Amino acid sequence: MKARLKLGNIEIIWLNGGSFELDGGAMFGVVPKILWKKKYPCDEDNFIPIAAWPMLIKTPEQNLLIETGLGNKLTDKQKKIFRIKNDWDIISDLRELGIKREDIGTVILTHYDFDHAGGVIMQDEKGELSLTFPNAEHILQAREWADVLSPNLRSENTFWPVNNELLRNSANLKLIEEDYKVQKGVDLFFSGAHNRGHQVVRIESQGEVAYHLGDLLPTHTHFNPLWIMAYDNYPLEVIEQKELFEGKALKENAWFLLYHDPFMPACKFDADGNVTEKVSVEG
Ligand SMILES: [Zn+2]
Repeated sequence: MKARLKLGNIEIIWLNGGSFELDGGAMFGVVPKILWKKKYPCDEDNFIPIAAWPMLIKTPEQNLLIETGLGNKLTDKQKKIFRIKNDWDIISDLRELGIKREDIGTVILTHYDFDHAGGVIMQDEKGELSLTFPNAEHILQAREWADVLSPNLRSENTFWPVNNELLRNSANLKLIEEDYKVQKGVDLFFSGAHNRGHQVVRIESQGEVAYHLGDLLPTHTHFNPLWIMAYDNYPLEVIEQKELFEGKALKENAWFLLYHDPFMPACKFDADGNVTEKVSVEG
């Protein structure tokens, strides 16, 4: 069983976007290991398990996806570098749910790092590159896309041309400026911070609310605004934006949807950051 969460008349289902490992120090930035290792396991080389959970959002109107996972285009060398543990498998996950890739109407991307956008373009059944979700509008911030198309020395390690070339000239690309309403109950808010064009998602149905803070809150252990990643491009803005959106979510007693957490795909927190409710990985 996949992890699931019912939110009013919307259902959220977690899909296998691939799992990998990263250096614990990179994931916890300036936080001393003596503190983070109490909350997160690591191996003798300091690597920690990282999930990539694209989420299917089934609404009465349409099927949406938040993020697309690592995709199936990694080279053997990249698989080794990122220590891939589980391959991307969202097509068969969707099939099990009776959903074809053509049935996804909207893909929301919080930002375009390879571990979020790698599944936008796939190596298809014929071995050719194609848009994984050919009928979906792919929504991202215009300033993120501008950076994707002209990466700097640092971001060229995460904005790979193979992940954007087919989308670049396609009618499936929807670039937005700042905040945007996708449909009833699904709203996007510009945050910047992790990347210059990062955005967050708010979902609401029948009075129940969930926030997807993307890489502002990669795992439940990053709740403390000061626990940020070395991958964050604008660290002070991450602290500010995380505090802001966590505050909003706490006021609404909202669920937090966690993209990178292999142990807890969603949870609720109290004001002190203690987990009060959680979704389990087994569903
Ligand atoms: Zn990420």
